[in-house]
Amino acid sequence: MGLDRKFTITIIEDRCKGCELCVIYCPTDALEMSEKTNLNGYYIPKIKDIDKCKGCQLCFKLCPDFAIYCSGKN
Ligand code: SF4
Ligand code: SF4
Repeated sequence: MGLDRKFTITIIEDRCKGCELCVIYCPTDALEMSEKTNLNGYYIPKIKDIDKCKGCQLCFKLCPDFAIYCSGKN
């Protein structure tokens, strides 16, 4: 059921290099860059609107550093 879809995005902050690929290519605009930096000084992404996430895993597939993934029902 479409209404039951719920996804969780996990960002492993200290692995992130701040490349913004996940934010730029998320097809539903569910992510945005934050103003927070990680231990290495890179700006990290954050969830803009989790309800927009459709669980496509593109963010996970694109991230060069395995710093983000999506879990939940599809
Ligand atoms: S799983 Fe897909 S829709 Fe959800 S945040 Fe990642 S790229 Fe965007
Ligand atoms: S794609 Fe990965 S390394 Fe790049 S901003 Fe997103 S989480 Fe960080």
